[in-house]
This record gives sequence, C-alpha cells and structure tokens, in this order.
Amino acid sequence: MSKNLRKNLQIAIDGPAGAGKSTVARMVAHELGMFYLDTGAMYRVISYKVLKNGILPEDELAVTRIAQETEITFDHRDRDVVLCDGEIVTSQIRSPEVNRTVSIVAAYAGVRERLVKIQRVEAAKGNVVMDGRDIGTFVLPEADIKIFLTASTEERAARRLQEIQATGINMTYQQVLDDIENRDSMDSQRQHSPLRPAEDAIIIDTTTLAVDEVAEKIVSLISSS
Ligand code: C5P
Repeated sequence: MSKNLRKNLQIAIDGPAGAGKSTVARMVAHELGMFYLDTGAMYRVISYKVLKNGILPEDELAVTRIAQETEITFDHRDRDVVLCDGEIVTSQIRSPEVNRTVSIVAAYAGVRERLVKIQRVEAAKGNVVMDGRDIGTFVLPEADIKIFLTASTEERAARRLQEIQATGINMTYQQVLDDIENRDSMDSQRQHSPLRPAEDAIIIDTTTLAVDEVAEKIVSLISSS
C-alpha cells in the first residue's frame, strides 16, 4: 500500500548483527509500498563465492577480483531470493561458514566500492528502504530518515538463534553469541565505512520491543517527515 510518498524517498536502517534490521526494514517497505534492499546479502554473496572457489578470505586481491566479476541479483517477484551469477543462493549465504568470513571480505575497499556502486544505482530507481552497516554514513548520506537499531548482545544472539534454528541449521547459543561479537568487533573496527550511527541517525534500542512496534515507530517517523 503506497501512502502518497514523494519520489525517491530514501530510508537508511543500520545497526549491528541481529538487531532486527532486515525484518523491520522489510515490514516498513511492505507497509509503505517501497522497495527493500538487503545490502548484507550482497556481502554474503561475495563471501559465499570466495569459499565456493576455494579462495582464502584473507587474499584481498583474489577476493576483490571475485567482487568485481560477480553478478548479484534479487528476484523481482520475491526480493528475498538472492542470485549469485544466476544461481539461487538464498539459504547458502546464511551458512555458518559465510557468517565466519563475511566480515573479512566486507572490510576490503575494492569489495565495498563495487557493492556500494550497485546499491546507489538501485536506490536511484525509486523509494527505497536499505539496511546495512554504512547506509546512513556512506551509501546514502542524504537519506531522508536514518535509523540505527541496537539491542543487547544477549537479546540479539537469542533472536538470531531462533532464526537459524528455523532454517534447520544446528548451532548453540554460545556459537551464535561468539559469531555476533566477532562480526560486531570486525565491522566497527575496520578502516573503511565502519559500523557506527550517522550523526543525524535516530537510535532505537529494540531490546524490549517487538518487531512490529519498531516497524510502526519507523513508519510514523516517515509519515510525519
Ligand atoms: O546484515 P548482515 O548481518 O547479513 O551482514 C553481513 C555482514 O556484511 C556484516 O557483518 C558486515 O560485515 C557486512 N556488511 C557491511 N556493510 C553493509 C552490510 C553488511 O559491511 N552495508
């Protein structure tokens, strides 16, 4: 349902792993008839292909080459479906191996340069809700609304564990917690576009909030902007 939004409205939703960004971003986009772009999925595709080709994630040159030659697409009929060079990789990009390596490949300048270019082209196509780590600070610095979602590490791990178990992958709470802490630390300490709120971001702590409450809050911020 589109709510008479003006053209090229850009909503940036950033935050650490497991803060609920993608669920909330999807709900907001659906509610307002906007298009949703999951930028984390794009870094995951590169990480997946690096592993598939037997390349070491630490080999910056080889990883950057992969990023430059990989075609990443989302199925227009169902934006949750992600394709890597035409192959559907929606579930593969959520594997524990990809979780372990994605923040290594996402730290490389050449990888980010290529993916940010695609993200900006996509954003220019129309009203967009984009989630990631550097959307408000770097990808869309002129975004109309910037949201930074946080939640306690324990709550984020518990939510992630539930999501992972629903896909049939077997992981313990401790493994998920370690993964989240590792990624947060790598994502916030890297040189290029580290994870941090934009100066003009609205910070929402979602620890005690349900996803629909968070989505509602954002929709009302957009509607009153
Ligand atoms: O959002 P998600 O958890 O799927 O992102 C996976 C990883 O991709 C993050 O941990 C981060 O290393 C990287 N990422 C990024 N910049 C973005 C989105 C994701 O560096 N805009």
